[in-house]
Amino acid sequence: FLVTFEGTDGSGKTSVINGLTEKLEQLGYQNRYLVTREPGGNKISEAIRHILLDEEYEGMDPKTEVLLYAAARRQHLVQTVLPALKAGKIVLCDRYVESSLVYQGVGRKVGIEPVLAINNFATDELKADLTFVLDIDPEVGLKRIANNRLDEVNRMDKERLEFYQAIRRAYLKLVAKEPHRLVAIDANQELAQVQSDVWQVFESKILA
Ligand code: ATP
Ligand code: C5P
Ligand code: MG
Repeated sequence: FLVTFEGTDGSGKTSVINGLTEKLEQLGYQNRYLVTREPGGNKISEAIRHILLDEEYEGMDPKTEVLLYAAARRQHLVQTVLPALKAGKIVLCDRYVESSLVYQGVGRKVGIEPVLAINNFATDELKADLTFVLDIDPEVGLKRIANNRLDEVNRMDKERLEFYQAIRRAYLKLVAKEPHRLVAIDANQELAQVQSDVWQVFESKILA
């Protein structure tokens, strides 16, 4: 199974994955799952991640961004995800195609359709079996990342917040379109509750 985790920045993806692996370890699933993240997970994809996320390369064209994310995704899929799936492992992946649909398709206004077409090419249309969308007020998520430093948040301009609000809405639209494959989780709640909501779905859809 391929299980992916989506959500705006600071929504709790990494925390939720950590909670899930702890549970899996307790239940004796050692060596039967793989945790990985995008963009990255291997040398080539990490190099692309560096180009994408490093400030020294600012000014990237949105379509260049789509292509680089798709390139990193392809390499990650072939080199990291597919071998694990073939070995019968559960793959837990921090971000996948849906991130591109909403960040580049909607946030950077490339359009969902062209971004989906490029990602279908890059993934040979391999979809996640289950995708958790951690849904949160972006301001709360960004505050969490800024470690609740109010000055950071105050400096956060309106434009940036609107960018993330558009992304949040786009995620929820994707959930509405495929409610069996994509599941929204209320990530405004305290972490233990978020983890328990995720576990309930994971257990019934993946372990059952
Ligand atoms: P990023 O987009 O930066 O990768 P993320 O979605 O992986 O973020 P985390 O790194 O898991 O999010 O969480 C961001 C911060 O918020 C961390 O400091 C984490 O401890 C904290 N946090 C996560 N979930 C919650 C929660 N439900 N309530 C309060 N704090 C939380
Ligand atoms: O996965 P993580 O949240 O650490 O992503 C790092 C950064 O990359 C975030 O700021 C996120 O907004 C951005 N990102 C993006 N487009 C994607 C995936 C991530 O802009 N397709
Ligand atoms: Mg994270």
